[in-house]
Amino acid sequence: MVDFLNGGVRLNETLVREDLKYIWHPCTQMKDHETLPLIPVKSAKGLYLFDFEGNRYMDAISSWWVNLFGHSNPEINQKVKEQIETLEHVILAGFTHKPAVELARRLVELTPESLQKVFFADNGSSAVEVALKMSYHYHRNRGENRPLFLSLTNSYHGETLGALSVGDVELYKKTYQPLLIRSVQTPVPADQSLQSALDALESLSKLLDEQGGKIAAFIVEPLIQGAGGMHMYHPQYLKGARELTQKYGICLIADEIMTGFGRTGTLFGCEQSGIAPDFMLLSKGLTGGYLPLSVVLTTDSVYEAFYCDYSEQKSFLHSHSYTGNPLACSAALATLDIFASDNVLEENRKKSEYIAQKLDKFRDFPNVKEVRQLGMVAAIELQGYESHERIGLKIYRYGLDHGVLLRPLGNVIYFMPPYIITFEEIDTMMQVAFGAIENL
Ligand SMILES: *Cc1c(COP(=O)(O)O)cnc(C)c1O
Repeated sequence: MVDFLNGGVRLNETLVREDLKYIWHPCTQMKDHETLPLIPVKSAKGLYLFDFEGNRYMDAISSWWVNLFGHSNPEINQKVKEQIETLEHVILAGFTHKPAVELARRLVELTPESLQKVFFADNGSSAVEVALKMSYHYHRNRGENRPLFLSLTNSYHGETLGALSVGDVELYKKTYQPLLIRSVQTPVPADQSLQSALDALESLSKLLDEQGGKIAAFIVEPLIQGAGGMHMYHPQYLKGARELTQKYGICLIADEIMTGFGRTGTLFGCEQSGIAPDFMLLSKGLTGGYLPLSVVLTTDSVYEAFYCDYSEQKSFLHSHSYTGNPLACSAALATLDIFASDNVLEENRKKSEYIAQKLDKFRDFPNVKEVRQLGMVAAIELQGYESHERIGLKIYRYGLDHGVLLRPLGNVIYFMPPYIITFEEIDTMMQVAFGAIENL
């Protein structure tokens, strides 16, 4: 039994000891915790996490890119509380409920016009699996066998086997290579310039000339590749990719799991290219960072390819236990309410301009290779370090010692704060990162 009546320090120690006895943490070499302290979080409010010893940490990465409007947000809390007293969960096959219907309707209204149908799942990777299966099956239902998927180099779409198969981050993928389904990669634009987008489109065009007829879908992270180190590219690329995929009858899947809900400066990344994909995937910020939920939006024409008598065996027989969970849907509705009432994107524009100014001084470090930004995502890529030096870990530790949660991706320090961050807090966040680099 844990004695929860001790003082803060003792409770911290007890929790860490019990944790390491029972829990295997995500994306972690557990041996690191022999020296790296695990941080028990007692509570969280707004931009901050609080531990049991009275320390607070600014959540500069939105708890793995999910939080939009702060922890324990009063408006989201209220909606979820109301929902829990009404309906906590119900099977979505054969049954429906108000939060799911309302959320589906509002998402259809907010996304490009051709996206008219919503399929619910319960996390990002499962949305990717749904889109891959659905796009393959769509072609099959129309009498075409297209056994390949296409994705960008350096892409990340999650870590279940299908999602890993279309991803291209070595670190996560290499070990499982023999288990993966077939996919091909086409070069992502090298940087944010228009010329790089055009060069990458030329490669795409060549690849499709050779293999276009075998490809079911092209899956992309619009404008920012998140786990691939916050790599950014020009909107023109998506415009060209949309035209080319249409030409070869290939479905375009926009994985907006990270880029959705304002991260890129517009509500969805696709908007900056003026394109409508055949599938749009949303998760992470969808519930404001409260509860696991994801959706796959698609077109009437995809939907209709599955719509027939049951005996024709064209049905999409895919499900997850917590599909369309009402609590998660209510958190998502509260999140959309905040977007509707609070002028969020306009306020973010001012904050991202401020971040841009503050980023300038990082360019003077000789070990900074590139500084990049789009909307509310900013990244500083360092150079001259070997991976075994694990400078990301050093920066992470420095950040924690100075009250800011930074979690670099390899040599890339990035900022992806909740939108409630103030100008002063932006200063603090970036000063700590500056100190971390100086201290290397
Ligand atoms: C996080 C992420 C996923 C996977 O979502 P999970 O909920 O972690 O499974 C997929 N695609 C992108 C672009 C992501 O950033």
